[in-house]
Amino acid sequence: MKFSKLMQRAGTETAFAVLAKAREMERQGRSIVHFEIGEPDFNTPENIKQAGIKAIQDNFTHYSPAQGILELREAVAEYIGKTRNIPVDPAEVVITPGGKDVILFTTTALLDEGDEAIYPNPGYPIYESAIKIAGATPVPMPLLEENDFAFDREQFKKLITPKTKLIIINSPGNPTGGILSKDDLQFIADIAIKNDIMILSDEIYSRIIYEGEFNSIASLPGMKERTIILDGFSKTYAMTGWRLGYAVTTKEIARQFTKLATNSFSCVTTFVQIAGVEALRGPQDDVEMMRKRYEERRNLIINGLNEIPGFSVKMPKGAFYAFANIKGTGMSSKEISDYLLEEAGVATLPGTSFGKYGEGFIRFSYATSLENIKEGLKRVEEAVSKIKK
Ligand code: PLP
Repeated sequence: MKFSKLMQRAGTETAFAVLAKAREMERQGRSIVHFEIGEPDFNTPENIKQAGIKAIQDNFTHYSPAQGILELREAVAEYIGKTRNIPVDPAEVVITPGGKDVILFTTTALLDEGDEAIYPNPGYPIYESAIKIAGATPVPMPLLEENDFAFDREQFKKLITPKTKLIIINSPGNPTGGILSKDDLQFIADIAIKNDIMILSDEIYSRIIYEGEFNSIASLPGMKERTIILDGFSKTYAMTGWRLGYAVTTKEIARQFTKLATNSFSCVTTFVQIAGVEALRGPQDDVEMMRKRYEERRNLIINGLNEIPGFSVKMPKGAFYAFANIKGTGMSSKEISDYLLEEAGVATLPGTSFGKYGEGFIRFSYATSLENIKEGLKRVEEAVSKIKK
């Protein structure tokens, strides 16, 4: 069967493929330590679960408005308003089934064939895919280890052309854990304003920070009206399977996103939206508890990986990924990732799953227990010691 040109342009997310392979190996009796998928291992906090259960019992089981229920949009407006220090109207919020849809909505709503969009590389693979689906040209912004995976300003400036319509940023970043400083954001903002470029700011890891503070580009003067904030509940509240996220942007763009929602999922599961209100307005202790636990795990895995010959890793400032430089092993990203899975039963992702500038790296998601991390480190060390140089 011949599929559309659009499908041929679409990319994918390797994490799900590696997870499927690792699960198959488990079914065949192999023991696997999972570092491949970027999802919290914690359960959703009890108050949120109870709110979801109650919402079903209270019959919040019907369609809701495509843009999202007003109460949740109000809660999001309040939360983003407070944390980003900007006024947000509920009409500027669109509720989506996961933050992910905001990426495709943005590229679909803003880009035409011939337009260019700059995106971080290595970066979340859906950025490049969504730009291509829209028929636009993806322009990778290399994030280099020597710059702590932040933007290289001079290089960034050179990527701007009259065709640049969109810049995607992600701080704290997947897969690198890098954070954009306020100065970096101001630099990007100045360029965006001068050249009339929109920004998609993926802030899904904004609550998972270990060093420094979180800054949103939308908080900078003149930027709210040219920014689409992507955020959600998956990482912050360990709610990946609930599928709940949102966009905060201008009313005009929100209307276009709502049109896209109407054309696809109609509305996000209504009782899930009610649970989202509890997540934002209820106690936040679990969020801080999880952040502290990730921090302990970060310290363990980074220090452990740095002791393995051929590996070196910078201490990530946010998110829950270790982006390990494996150049010293003499293998490529894909080779070592495959080797660790086959030889040691350790599932990781090759850096190239995040774009070509990910060559020489593999990603470990450390949203897993300290015991798993210790076991994984032991296995990696043993497997690496067997590599013939
Ligand atoms: N953005 C980034 C950078 C991510 O890493 C992810 C998930 O891995 C998402 C967005 C999407 O998350 P969700 O759709 O579960 O909200």
